[in-house]
Amino acid sequence: MAQEREPEKASLISIKMRAAQGGPHERGGRHISGEERIVREGDIEACLHEMLERATTHQRGKADFMNLKLQLVDMDCVVYKPMLDFSECVSRTAEEGRDVAVRELVAAGVTETAARAGVAAILALPDSMRGAMLLDAVTGGRVDHLGNRGVRVSNMDVADPDAFRRALAAKGLQGDHVREALVLASKVASGEGVVAELCWSDDPLYVTGYVGSVKNGYRRIPVLKQRNCGIGGRVFFVKPETDLDALRDYYEEQVVFITAGAKGYVTEKD
Ligand code: AMP
Repeated sequence: MAQEREPEKASLISIKMRAAQGGPHERGGRHISGEERIVREGDIEACLHEMLERATTHQRGKADFMNLKLQLVDMDCVVYKPMLDFSECVSRTAEEGRDVAVRELVAAGVTETAARAGVAAILALPDSMRGAMLLDAVTGGRVDHLGNRGVRVSNMDVADPDAFRRALAAKGLQGDHVREALVLASKVASGEGVVAELCWSDDPLYVTGYVGSVKNGYRRIPVLKQRNCGIGGRVFFVKPETDLDALRDYYEEQVVFITAGAKGYVTEKD
């Protein structure tokens, strides 16, 4: 198998996009889509083109506001974390999927009470949030106090796009949805104090979701919500003693590259 390359020390650029309908998010616009990549300088144009396409053709509606931020990445501040192992559960309906999600969360170390509270918290959302809710992995109580915004995980990408593509293809996987979800889930799982994550998409036609954890990897759940439902969400379950400020800072600020093909789970820069 080919050796995975570290990203070149040459300039890498972080590109972040968020799009809304009815004006900017901060003036009440409805969130349509968001994406971020860390790319080589030569790939900026292609990346911007893809982002524009995504914001104007999204299932949630056509965006009339788009915010783009480009920033040089300081390679000395980057850490590397491994991609979670991928495996698949069985579910044919949303109800079955939610039962599977609860089982998977419990297997990962969340109490059944907290697991059910997590599912209920996403189901109760009046519209999708931009970020994730943090729930206590024992009691199921919400601990982030960030309301409708939640915690937004940012500043991550694959360490080597080709190696990542090969690793996914070896599992019969392809496409942006899986890559993005695996990168995000791998960064989330690497957070200090996090037990597991529950996610299902807000894309109305994408009914698949997952439970992610360091313990059991990325457990894809084929059907976890009703078709044509435009509300999704994420819940991160944390140990009661977790330093929430440090965790939030790690999720929002720390630049993390996810490596595919790494053996085992490492917490140090490799
Ligand atoms: P998606 O998988 O992109 O359809 O997102 C599903 C839900 O996960 C969204 O409605 C948000 O609540 C949440 N979410 C999406 N992206 C992030 C992120 N970067 N960090 C935290 N939560 C997110």
